[in-house]
Amino acid sequence: MAIANILLVDDETPFRETMTRRLAKREFTTSSAPGGREAIRLLEENDHIEVVVLDVKMPEMDGLETLKIIRQKFPLVEVIMLSGHATIESAIEGMKLGAFDYLIKPCDMEELVSKVREAAQKKKRHKEKIIEAQLKEITMRRI
Ligand SMILES: [Mg+2]
Repeated sequence: MAIANILLVDDETPFRETMTRRLAKREFTTSSAPGGREAIRLLEENDHIEVVVLDVKMPEMDGLETLKIIRQKFPLVEVIMLSGHATIESAIEGMKLGAFDYLIKPCDMEELVSKVREAAQKKKRHKEKIIEAQLKEITMRRI
């Protein structure tokens, strides 16, 4: 079984392809999107996606704009921002807006893998807590 279900969003096709291949080798289920709009559409279609790795600098809809929509529409999905040195401020802004973490490009594969694992675990715990709370609520209603 896959360790985590990832969506990689980046406007650079060679980067997207290389990273997708590398992540797949680490037993991550990885899909990818070239931009924010495509990413949102994939999230709407696939509720198994747990972690989004999101480029900050993209034409049309940038990373921050995409992050805001993801937080709003898919609050349980964790987001890791991918930033170049020139856009670190945006990555930090992303953290304030609820991103799980950020990475500087070119990113170290081990670092990315461990952050994705952490993010996926956080999402799982969060989901478990919600289920627990729902069960409690059902039990309390019976009393
Ligand atoms: Mg870019």
